[in-house]
Amino acid sequence: MSKNKAPYIGENSPLNRITAYFSALQSSAEEYLFVVDLNSNMILLSDNFVKDFDFPSNIVDDFNNLIMPFIYHDDREIFEEAMKDIWTEEKGKSVKCEFRLLHSNGEYGWVNMSMTVGGDEFSERPEILCGVIKRLDEVARADYITGLLRRSVFYSDLQKELDTPNSHGSVIIISLDNFNVITETYGHKFGDSALRQIAQNITNVLPPDIKLYKLDGYNFGLFMPDAMPEEVEIIFASVQLCMREIRNVEDTIYCTASAGAAFYPDDAKDITTLTRYAEVALELARQKGRDQISFFEKEPYERWRYDIGMQNLMQNCIARGCEDFFLCFQPQVDAKDGRLLGAEALLRWYDNDGSIVAPMQFIPMLEKSRMIIPVGHWIIENAVIVAKKWQKYMPNFQMSINISLYQLEERMFYPFVEDCIARHQIDPSTLVFELTESHNIYDWDFVNKQFAAFHDLGIKIAIDDFGTGFANIGFLKNFKCDIVKIDRMFVEDLKHNEFNRNILKHSIKLCHSIGMEVVIEGVEQEDEYLFVRDECGVDQIQGFYFGYPEMEDVFEKRLKK
Ligand code: C2E
Ligand code: CA
Ligand code: CA
Repeated sequence: MSKNKAPYIGENSPLNRITAYFSALQSSAEEYLFVVDLNSNMILLSDNFVKDFDFPSNIVDDFNNLIMPFIYHDDREIFEEAMKDIWTEEKGKSVKCEFRLLHSNGEYGWVNMSMTVGGDEFSERPEILCGVIKRLDEVARADYITGLLRRSVFYSDLQKELDTPNSHGSVIIISLDNFNVITETYGHKFGDSALRQIAQNITNVLPPDIKLYKLDGYNFGLFMPDAMPEEVEIIFASVQLCMREIRNVEDTIYCTASAGAAFYPDDAKDITTLTRYAEVALELARQKGRDQISFFEKEPYERWRYDIGMQNLMQNCIARGCEDFFLCFQPQVDAKDGRLLGAEALLRWYDNDGSIVAPMQFIPMLEKSRMIIPVGHWIIENAVIVAKKWQKYMPNFQMSINISLYQLEERMFYPFVEDCIARHQIDPSTLVFELTESHNIYDWDFVNKQFAAFHDLGIKIAIDDFGTGFANIGFLKNFKCDIVKIDRMFVEDLKHNEFNRNILKHSIKLCHSIGMEVVIEGVEQEDEYLFVRDECGVDQIQGFYFGYPEMEDVFEKRLKK
């Protein structure tokens, strides 16, 4: 029974006499039990005590000291008082108290302790004291609507499974899609009965040795030892089938379920991580359109976590005035002679570890969260400051600034730009706004009006990444701009790709014919440069052949030459 050998107790002591009964009793109880022999002050503890609290033995003589560290510090006095109280050695006396005890899951939970002093009818003096400690959060093990076991039982059962050597299998969370609509439409009473039916139906399709647990709201949990993904899919398919029809008196109600699964020990070995991963997979199933199961995948999850982390860092960075952002500048040259005309300002960000992050990794997130609006202000402000400074060396220096469509939708954007130009006393005709594709334009009218306003201010408008996404020929019909920037994908493989050569030549001709200037991006080789200059007659070039995006001080050296 005990981990270690019990210390000596007298042959005729009450403890010795009741040990056999105690052993039988404790195996059918979930509570912590203890019996104190009031003559010897020896205390007999139930096995779960020894296991959960790592006590040295089933028989101890310093119970108070052993258990004290596990009692929540504010509640220790309650426990001590109760112990003092019971010591009055009055037969039949009982004492009850409640305090918080550290459970094996690492959390404090309320327990109820009751103790009674007893002795047999022949003895005058009380001989023993019996105590029971009961976890209050486990009193209701079953969900009262579905009759299923609850989350706490799910956790403790799963823990047992995970503790089993070499165990492997799957943890699955099933969630009812839009069940609240059913409750709202048919009322809570029907909702409860539907939930009961569903719980029953799911239980029926599970293998007999697999239990279903009710977690919270409309979520169910289960774990399947030894299950492989294929088996989990098959089980979920039958869950889907049984979900389809819940009968009301007059209607048949349709309901679907989504599920997420994680596998132990491959995905994780501990309960907290496993259930979180199953929830992550569930969220994925929901995002994919519900009524399906998804398996946890580490890589997208890590990426998502990285993005979330980055989003937080950026939020803080913006609050501190965008101090971890900086601009790089890539030269734009005259195609005819390679003479410097200006630069495109390209955003960069210093990650926590000091590494530099490229914009494709964070611009979409900035746009989605609308953080691009404050950052956009910062970009314009700083690009204008730098342009103004460089115009001292080169009066017509042209600064191209990327503008996301989300920025255009902001009402304060135009006044901000107007004010920025006035404050820095910059000639607006030296600025180019490059419209980058970010989301579909629904309100052409509004976008055109915005750009017309900037145009009237004197700023040039460029359409970026021409030839991809929305930036196509049809677009030019709707959109009034001054410059077309042809995407670098048309420059790739020019030597071997006649199609690209033709496209380039003809789109440049077309743009020229409607009075637009053309910039070509991504020129990396001399032969590419010669082709776009001589065969296509392009106006400006931006590409690694003429310069990479550079730090401000590096670029500045080009101007001071
Ligand atoms: P983009 O506006 O098309 O910018 C040009 C991108 O092409 C830059 O990448 C540049 O480094 C790269 N590039 C230029 N020449 C060459 C070349 O010869 N070969 C190759 N392989 N690449 C070349 P970057 O800086 O990573 O920027 C990527 C995109 O991020 C930009 O594409 C733009 O859409 C967005 N972005 C950058 N800065 C900003 C910004 O300040 N605001 C907004 N809204 N978007 C920005
Ligand atoms: Ca651009
Ligand atoms: Ca581009």
